[in-house]
Amino acid sequence: MSLVVQKYGGSSLSDADSIKRVARRIVDTRKAGNRVCVVVSAMGDTTDELLDLADAVSPAPPERELDMLLTAGERMSMALVSMAIANLGDSARSYTGSQAGVITDDSHGKARIIDVTPGRIQAALDKGHIVIVAGFQGVSQNTKEITTLGRGGSDTTAVALAAALKADVCEIYTDVDGIFTADPRIVPTARKIDRITNEEMQEMAASGAKVLMLRCVEYARRFNLPIHVRSSFSHREGTWVLDPTEGETVEAPIIAGVAHDRSEAKLTVVGVKDSPGQAAEIFNAVAAAEINIDMIVQNVSAADTGKTDVSFTLPKSDGQTAVKKLKALKEKLGYDHLQYDDQVGKLSLIGSGMRSHPGVSATLFQALADAGINIEMISSSEIRVSVVTRDDQLDDAVRAVHTAFGLDSSDGEAVVYGGSGR
Ligand code: ASP
Ligand code: MG
Repeated sequence: MSLVVQKYGGSSLSDADSIKRVARRIVDTRKAGNRVCVVVSAMGDTTDELLDLADAVSPAPPERELDMLLTAGERMSMALVSMAIANLGDSARSYTGSQAGVITDDSHGKARIIDVTPGRIQAALDKGHIVIVAGFQGVSQNTKEITTLGRGGSDTTAVALAAALKADVCEIYTDVDGIFTADPRIVPTARKIDRITNEEMQEMAASGAKVLMLRCVEYARRFNLPIHVRSSFSHREGTWVLDPTEGETVEAPIIAGVAHDRSEAKLTVVGVKDSPGQAAEIFNAVAAAEINIDMIVQNVSAADTGKTDVSFTLPKSDGQTAVKKLKALKEKLGYDHLQYDDQVGKLSLIGSGMRSHPGVSATLFQALADAGINIEMISSSEIRVSVVTRDDQLDDAVRAVHTAFGLDSSDGEAVVYGGSGR
């Protein structure tokens, strides 16, 4: 008998009817002869609504209480799904993250899973129950407090549980048919990808593709666990995220897809002395504030001043902190001023075929040039090229690049079944 871990996202659980539909699907999987462990997200936009509520009572809610509040969303879903299954005559048991043995570090709001001890889940499965687990949450090993894993964290719960239970597959159910060559909400002609390597998927997620959370892909890669991303609204085969060595018989396409990201801002330190230690000072200050930076560009220094500009991108949510930290260094470093710009977007082209195919960047830049889009920053890795553009040109940029690489589908538009995309 196979053990299947399924995860249902908020858009698949938006109201009572969708919960009943999901329950039917779970029971069908069980009836087909599988053992089933299900991870659920909060219903619809519940997490955002809870955040709005918290914001309405306090501009800076204590992290501990915020986690207590947010984890309630997943608890509602798990109990309702379990009830709906009982109503279909099957037996289900729901468990919070803590009960399911999801042990994390103690950082509220972005906790990392450090261990999974699924004893109770295993026992319930052994007794023949369907198990429903609240996603996105765990319990801190040290403080014993309830933690959350960061937005979209239920994916990570599912993969971590699947690895701990040695499941045969982890199915991630969402509101689209799988992973697309670009966000179908922006590129209606985006194509569903049948198979993608976990390495490419990791770059896509890191570059802003929201279908799968980055940490979940990293986790799956580490444990070599296949993920099947598919729609809960259809029975179509979705996208398999696999280890590159597994079952790739045909040569993979050069480009897997185009990702975009609007969550970052650009910060430029203007007029930095071109001497050893300047960059170290700047980035040490930013690192000390635990800010993750992404792209970095340093220009050659102007001949007459001997000064240069250093630009980098960082999450918009960390923008003001970074500005404050760097302002404090103005005297010491003697730079001219700071320029903070949050009207930027990032486009990333991803594909493991780039390693062996020259000319990919040239085609990318030409496509942007033809579309009249200015490139503000460029960075690349072995299998990715990213550019920063104006925010209001990002959608056009994504469409132009998607077309230039021949990724447009010829057979109709991608279907987006639900969700507000919020
Ligand atoms: N409900 C949480 C969120 O909206 C976790 C998740 O959906 O995975 O971010
Ligand atoms: Mg959600």
